[in-house]
Amino acid sequence: MALVMKGLAGGLGLLITLGACQSLSQPPSKLQHDLGQMIDQSVPYQWVDISDNEYRDILMYEHEKEFKLKKSGIAPPQHPARQRIQYHMDQIDALLRENFPDQLKNVPPPKAQLILTRDSNAVIYPISQCLSRRVQMQGSTSKRETRYLEFTRSTGRLDEDRAPDKPVLCLDRSFTAAETQAILDWNFAEVQGCSYRIEGAGLQLGSDCIELFNDRENVPESAKDFAFEAVPSAITFYAGLLIDGREDLLIFDIAHEMAHYYRAHVVVAGSHFGVYYELKEKNPTARPQPSARLASFAREMAELIAAMGSRGVAALSAPQKIRWRELQTQAYDQSIGQYTREQEADELGLELLVAYGVAPEVAVENLLETLRLDDLRAKRRPAPQDPWDYARCKDGFDRRWQSDEERPLFVPIGDYSEEHHSLCYRAFNLSRELEVHPYQASGGKPKLLPPAGWKRLQEDLQKEVLALKRN
Ligand SMILES: [Zn+2]
Repeated sequence: MALVMKGLAGGLGLLITLGACQSLSQPPSKLQHDLGQMIDQSVPYQWVDISDNEYRDILMYEHEKEFKLKKSGIAPPQHPARQRIQYHMDQIDALLRENFPDQLKNVPPPKAQLILTRDSNAVIYPISQCLSRRVQMQGSTSKRETRYLEFTRSTGRLDEDRAPDKPVLCLDRSFTAAETQAILDWNFAEVQGCSYRIEGAGLQLGSDCIELFNDRENVPESAKDFAFEAVPSAITFYAGLLIDGREDLLIFDIAHEMAHYYRAHVVVAGSHFGVYYELKEKNPTARPQPSARLASFAREMAELIAAMGSRGVAALSAPQKIRWRELQTQAYDQSIGQYTREQEADELGLELLVAYGVAPEVAVENLLETLRLDDLRAKRRPAPQDPWDYARCKDGFDRRWQSDEERPLFVPIGDYSEEHHSLCYRAFNLSRELEVHPYQASGGKPKLLPPAGWKRLQEDLQKEVLALKRN
C-alpha cells in the first residue's frame, strides 16, 4: 500500500527561511521521538537497498499508471532537482545516524527518485521480494498453481498475483534457510494461526493460512514462489512538488516521507495504528494511547472501515451508512482523535524538519499552503464531515485555534476511513504538537545549499516536464 503525502507546496516565494542555519557551532538537537517505535531492530529484512535499475524494472513497472510512464521520465542520478532532494535527505539521514546509530544499523540510507510529471506527490511504494521457494498450500480447494503467493504485512493478507495480466516482479536476494526462517517469522509474527514450514527447497503453508486469503473459496494449491513486502531504499517524488513551492516547504515533505521510511510504515502491521483517543486541551507529549472509554466506538469504526474495503462508504449497507454517519458525529462532538501512520509521519517529520535547522512553523505553513492550492484548483470536494476550507482554516490558525468565546476549537479530522486527515486538521495537530514540544530550529550540523539556484532549478524543471508532456 502506498503512503501518499499530498503535498502541494506552492506560492511564488523565493525567500528561503531556513532557520538559524548559520550558527554551526551549536550541537544538534536531542530528538524526542524514538525512531524504533514498533520496529524490531533485529529484523534487517524490513528495508532493502535497491539500485536504480531495480527501481525502474520493478517499481516503475508495477506502478506505471501512476508514473504516467508514457508521458514522463525518471530523472537520472545527476539530475539537479533529484540531487537537491538527495542533498537534504543525506543531511537528515546523517543527523539521525549520529543520534540513533543502533536503530539505523539495518536501514540503508534512502535515495530520492524523481518522476518528471506535474503531480505534486511523494510516495514510498513497498517492493516485493521473493524467497525463491515453491509453495505448497495445504487444504486448498483448487488444483491450480499460481505464480506467486504474496503476504502483505500491513494488512496481514495472503494473496495471489495482484494483477493476473501482469506478473508481480520481485527482488531476489537469495536468502539462506536461516534467513528465510527469520523472514517468515517476522512476516507472520502478528497474524494468528498461520503455520508454515520450510521443507527442503520448498515452503509449506498450513491449511489454517487459508483464513488469510480474501477469496477463501479459490485458494491455489501451489505457487512457484512466495513474495513478501519490504521498504525499498527509494522515496519517489513527483516533480510538481518541487515546481510550485519554496524549498523550506519542500523540506517538510521530505522529512514527512523520511519519517514513513525509518518507521517502515508500509510494512508495519496496520493494527498498530488507527488508535482512537480523546483530544484534551493539549496534545500528549508521547504517542497517544487508545482510550478505554472509546473501546466500543473503536470496534464499531474498525468493523465499518473493514466493510468498506477499497470501495469506501458506497460499499456499506443502508443501516451501516446511517451508523457510520452517527459515529462521525459522535467523533466530532467528543473531539476524538485518530492516530494513523500519516499523523505519525507528520509529527516525526516535524521533529526531523526542526532538527535539520528549519523553522518549525514551516510545517504548519506547508499544510495551510497545500490546502490553499487545493481549494484554488478545486481539487478538494467539500464534504459534510470536512467543511473547513482554506479561509476558515487560516482564520482558525490566526486566532490560535480559539473560538470567539476563547474556547479551544476542534477541527474535523474529515473521513476517519482515510489515513490522511483533513489538511486543516493536520495543520491544527502540528500547531498543538508545537505547543507541547519545545522544538527550536537547532542550527545544528546541516549546512544548507545556498538559496540561490532554487528558482532556476524550478524553472528548468517546469520546462522539462512540459516538454515531456508535449511529446
Ligand atoms: Zn504520508
